[in-house]
Amino acid sequence: RKHVSRQRFAQEFSQCLYDFVIQLLPTAEELAVKEDVRKLLERLIRTIEPDSRLLSFGSTANGFSLRNSDMDLCCLIDSEERLSATDLVNMVGDLLERETKFHVKPLPHARIPIVKLSLDPAPGLPYGIACDIGFENRLALENTRLLMCYAMIDPPRVRTMVLFLKVWSKRRKINSPYTGTLSSYGYVLLVIYFLVHVKSPPVLPNLQLMQPLRPISKEETHLNGHNIWFFDDIELLRQRWKSANTESVAELLIDFYKFYSREFQYTHGVASIRAGLLSKEVKGWESEFEKGSPRERNRLCIEDPFEIDYNVARCVTRDGLYTIRGEFMRASRILALRPERAIVALAQLCE
Ligand code: ATP
Ligand code: MG
Repeated sequence: RKHVSRQRFAQEFSQCLYDFVIQLLPTAEELAVKEDVRKLLERLIRTIEPDSRLLSFGSTANGFSLRNSDMDLCCLIDSEERLSATDLVNMVGDLLERETKFHVKPLPHARIPIVKLSLDPAPGLPYGIACDIGFENRLALENTRLLMCYAMIDPPRVRTMVLFLKVWSKRRKINSPYTGTLSSYGYVLLVIYFLVHVKSPPVLPNLQLMQPLRPISKEETHLNGHNIWFFDDIELLRQRWKSANTESVAELLIDFYKFYSREFQYTHGVASIRAGLLSKEVKGWESEFEKGSPRERNRLCIEDPFEIDYNVARCVTRDGLYTIRGEFMRASRILALRPERAIVALAQLCE
């Protein structure tokens, strides 16, 4: 087997990553269908709550969307008197069941009550549609906006890395919070943590710590007791922020895998994009398993950017983390071999 120089491999592998990711972006047609679905659902929900708006969040709104990804929708109600999220989930569920062709599954008692919808594949819609509607989940809209801003500071590197890791984690079957691995949102936070706090010089600034351009009041920065302020003037940032880090997307990805295989302190550390590396002890997030509880929590700790008492990775089990780290190591090994054709490495990674 022939190896090529580190530099040449990084150059070719970067090009492969760009080419690979571009063909996985949603088509204009898909985006149009999704927008039509959003409008239709909004119109129906307004028959129950006339002052409501249905907004998209998650990947459809943050620039990290892949072809056929599901839609995350959030219903905001602008009137003073409104029904509880649980009642809304039940009522909207009944309504959509009656009025649309969607398969409807209301989950009124989830941590965040949602209505799950799906459409079966059809000729014009080869993969169907999957969609979750939540209510008054304003924090999710804000964290979506935060991720979008990070994506827009350096799209070639940040978006390429995130999109690739999303595909990779899905292909390697480690993107499933229901079975003990990590959500896409969790992987995105790991990437941003790496680019803000691990890389030196950093690739991205810490948007939550930058100084505002004008003084702002506490009312403006807080939502349900959470500080949601961050620097969001992206035009200005793109003019002013020039990272001293010039590594290519391939070099960053190689280093990402290496860092999360061997260097991140899984046992004691918490990754926080707001505050850098924190300790589980200080956050009171020691693994409950170790305290004798049968439920496993806090094996992997990633602090939510705004809801800082919430561990985004709380569903990751011991086995799940073992599998995820095993995959980071496998990826690291493949890339360390630097095969002559970079495309071979990419194919192996996503096998
Ligand atoms: P995909 O394309 O795989 O659906 P996505 O970018 O939409 O990826 P999801 O994991 O579906 O990511 O998350 C969508 C949104 O839901 C996130 O932007 C976040 O607001 C919220 N979210 C998801 N998982 C969590 C979580 N564990 N904790 C808090 N919020 C979450
Ligand atoms: Mg999603």
